[in-house]
Amino acid sequence: MNPRGFCMQLNRRSFVKTAVQATAALTVAPRLVGSTGGPSREPLRQFNYADVQLTGGPLAEQYDALHAHYLALSNDSLLKVYRQRAGLPAPGKDMGGWYDRDGFVPGHSLGQYISGLARFGASTRDAACHEKAHDLVEGFAATLGPDNQSILRASTNLWICYTLDKHFAGLIDAATLSNVSGTKDILSRVLAGARPLLPARGRDRIGKKDPPYDETYVMPENLFTAADLTGNPAFGDLARRYLLDRELFDPLARGDDPFPGQHAYSHAIALSSAGKAWLVLSDPKYKQALQHAFELLTTQQQFASGGWGPNETFVTPHRGELYNSLSSTVDHFETPCGAYAATKLARYLIRLTASPANTSHADNLERVVFNTILAVKPPDSDGDYPYYSTYSPGAQKVFYARKWPCCSGTLAQTVADYPLNLYFQADDGLYVNLFTPSHLRFTFAGTPIELTQETRYPAEDATVLTLTPASATAFTVYLRVPGWLTQSASIRLNGKRLPTPTSPGKYASIYRTWRAGDRIELTLPQSFRAEPIDELHPETVALMRGPVQYVALNPTPELSQQRLALPSSLKKLAPQSFVENYAGNEIVFVPLYRVQNETYATYFSRA
Ligand SMILES: [Zn+2]
Repeated sequence: MNPRGFCMQLNRRSFVKTAVQATAALTVAPRLVGSTGGPSREPLRQFNYADVQLTGGPLAEQYDALHAHYLALSNDSLLKVYRQRAGLPAPGKDMGGWYDRDGFVPGHSLGQYISGLARFGASTRDAACHEKAHDLVEGFAATLGPDNQSILRASTNLWICYTLDKHFAGLIDAATLSNVSGTKDILSRVLAGARPLLPARGRDRIGKKDPPYDETYVMPENLFTAADLTGNPAFGDLARRYLLDRELFDPLARGDDPFPGQHAYSHAIALSSAGKAWLVLSDPKYKQALQHAFELLTTQQQFASGGWGPNETFVTPHRGELYNSLSSTVDHFETPCGAYAATKLARYLIRLTASPANTSHADNLERVVFNTILAVKPPDSDGDYPYYSTYSPGAQKVFYARKWPCCSGTLAQTVADYPLNLYFQADDGLYVNLFTPSHLRFTFAGTPIELTQETRYPAEDATVLTLTPASATAFTVYLRVPGWLTQSASIRLNGKRLPTPTSPGKYASIYRTWRAGDRIELTLPQSFRAEPIDELHPETVALMRGPVQYVALNPTPELSQQRLALPSSLKKLAPQSFVENYAGNEIVFVPLYRVQNETYATYFSRA
């Protein structure tokens, strides 16, 4: 088979046009391509990327910057190590860092860049993203060689499964979102080429500290999706073999805690495979495992930001290890990768929970988005990326020591996924989960509906949703009333206050026949609260306001010794800037996500 032949049916212009048409067509049916869950297994459904656009605010600002950033990467540089291995002409500059021939994991993140570009392109309808995804898939396919191995050789790549999983992610998104023709065939060829290198059974992480490393258990989610997409049963067979049942999902489903001491990110992203396994296999243990994992992560592992895993390792609970980590390391959260796992876990749980009894999954999703991934240092244009977030006194946002790390791939995917976090569809209506300026197109009972959300949240407390159904349509709008609220939320419909109950931690529901121009105004008064780092150190607290973590800017070395009367002593300077007076000094608090090059402090001693 001609490895270059897959795209010859389409010239560039017709390819782009087809991709845009395919993206537009997806808006009609709000189900993910490849989704195999029935209504009972997936009572709330994600929208497609194409259905949702970010239209302003801090999330869109980061989203737009990274959309442009990944679009600007050099295709020749991205493909260089692949072409070198294939013995092909390899023009362009070396990437450096992890990515090159002699790097830590050569070529590891190519698939994630393709995935991120396809996702950005699907939501923004930017044809240049689809064109770049197409060119990268074409360039990758040309390096597969007669045995379809491409870059994956036992002698040269210590992370076969890890890299292969990213190849699958990129190819799946290129096929389903960028409509790159021939990609299904490439998926099967890549699997066939890798098969002789893959273990017959999944196993827990080998090489925790030293090579060889690998992670079979991160793969089943993409393997199940590839099985669905290609019809090739080899993908589904491998997916079942690689589910980390014995070490992770069985203990979680029993209510045990398998996390302490485990590598944090890889086990957290493995939970996405449990979510997919529940949709595909219908074994309730996978749903139980997800639910218990969420409880453990949010009550025993998590910093106030929503991050976890100091030194990439889950702590042993009830020993004050989170507190101890503040002085023993500066590597508190592997942020882009960890945020990818945490946001996906939250979305799976939102999707799998019938008539959500509470908002805890969405509340935590919001916490993670605003305080971890939104708060990272923006990458430069030469392979420097954020990796660890630091919660020690006198912290700074820094790049990782080596270029093109794992987090350069998950940064693209996590931010490109922002549109998926905002709204979910149920059989009886629409769930509004995050409050950020955006536009949604969906259908209910065959009626096309547009929804516009306008807000300055979290800088301000109110958000306004305007609905425009093509014709009057009855359904329920569910509004998240976050669990952190301490003052009453209020809802106005077309200017009139509604008596709808607004209990913190529940969804407020409004059922009516919606007409074009109907306007919902939801007000969520944000106030400060202090959150202890762990139960052994209740006096060491982070400062939260609504979903947002506030940090002290340019703290003096003595600040960590001071006992502060937080939050009662704070005075407002500006919408997201507050001041505390102590010992004759003024210390300014701002959201962690607004910090740039300043030093900051995230935890304080409470008076
Ligand atoms: Zn990473």
